[in-house]
Amino acid sequence: MAERTTRLWLALALLAVAMLRAAGPGALGQWPPLARAQTADLTPDPTPSAADANATSTPARPFVVAIDPGHGGTEVGAAHPSWEGAPPLREKDVNLAIALDLRDLLEARGYQVVMTRTMDTNVNVDGLDLNGDGVVNNDDDLQARVDIANQAHADVLVSIHNNGAADRSVRGTSVWYCADHPQGARARRLAQLLQQAFLAHLRGIGYSPLDQGANDDPPLHKPYGHLFVVGVKTPRVARPSEMPGVVGESLYVTNDREAALLAQEQVRQELAAAYRDAVVAFLEQPQ
Ligand SMILES: [Zn+2]
Repeated sequence: MAERTTRLWLALALLAVAMLRAAGPGALGQWPPLARAQTADLTPDPTPSAADANATSTPARPFVVAIDPGHGGTEVGAAHPSWEGAPPLREKDVNLAIALDLRDLLEARGYQVVMTRTMDTNVNVDGLDLNGDGVVNNDDDLQARVDIANQAHADVLVSIHNNGAADRSVRGTSVWYCADHPQGARARRLAQLLQQAFLAHLRGIGYSPLDQGANDDPPLHKPYGHLFVVGVKTPRVARPSEMPGVVGESLYVTNDREAALLAQEQVRQELAAAYRDAVVAFLEQPQ
């Protein structure tokens, strides 16, 4: 009799285990009952949950802006040849200062910002052949910048530069885009907005900039005809940028008067505000 009872309980226990296994890992995960009670305690009361759903539908994804401070590290960019101040006026430093100001302005507006660099460094820090052309050079540094913007799924890409020329009398303000890019029409609009914002902000601080326009990139005579960071796929660009992008050339580092402007924090902040105004108008007032 005792042996039959033991067998009966053993059979019932095996049956219970079999039923739990048949129910799948979810059922086992909710065992023992104490765990279910804890889960139930964590379940939000349905009334406020429904109210929340009514008050705010799915929260909107913030705009994502990729900011690319041109050059950096071993890539100085343009530099004033006889700048007497300290530190020397180098394009890579000016670009970064404007970019960091722009980041603050966009984040204050609730945007998400991704920077290709935040310090005086190259972007392809590991020295990789990122575009797969068999050599490691500045093209790979540019590919690293594009990859960062693409991986962030940025809505726009702004590459921040200032210009340079062997003739120190040359000055001017311009923006560049690639009309052949799949997002070229939108990039053109962003370029025009940025050029207008540059001119307005520079005039606002009492300077009369030389308007060199918002331009398609062929006149720059870049390899394969296009800018790297905002241009199309070419033998040097393995993965082109996927969003509308522009290259801003706000002032000439090599011109005495414009270099003196770029050396002023207030002027750099005005240029950052110009980028902010253009990006905000582009993203928040779609055509
Ligand atoms: Zn540059």
